[in-house]
Amino acid sequence: MCIFCMIANGEIPSNKIYEDESVIAFLDINPTSYGHTLVIPKEHCDSFLNCPDETRNHVFEVASKLANKLEQTLHCDGINILSNVHEAAGQSVTHFHVHLIPRYKDNDSVTIEFHEIEKPDFEELMNKLK
Ligand code: AMP
Ligand code: ZN
Repeated sequence: MCIFCMIANGEIPSNKIYEDESVIAFLDINPTSYGHTLVIPKEHCDSFLNCPDETRNHVFEVASKLANKLEQTLHCDGINILSNVHEAAGQSVTHFHVHLIPRYKDNDSVTIEFHEIEKPDFEELMNKLK
């Protein structure tokens, strides 16, 4: 069974910091920063892409409240809020989750970098996407 379903069911322990009827949040077992937290729906869905709207909205509502709490309590300088979709994007657990990664200006081992690609044909791309 999916490891996050097992955490949601209480079958394996977690360092839980929030729980309601449909969402839980717990500390990442391999934190990349102090306070690294995961917010998940209790009901299994593979990723952000196939999560029912109501559930996804509630996960983000909780993520938003917890991000504010992390900032106030841990006095971090910033927070990365991200959800990886599929292996190519770094998803290793196939149960939708949102990472809250507090960032610290002077003591931070997190690297999230965006390197530019050659500029695409924006007109063509826009027509594909809109
Ligand atoms: P991702 O790579 O986006 O799928 O993130 C999965 C995250 O789950 C990683 O940061 C792992 O450290 C974390 N993780 C895996 N197993 C556990 C667990 N049992 N308890 C807490 N966090 C976990
Ligand atoms: Zn699951």
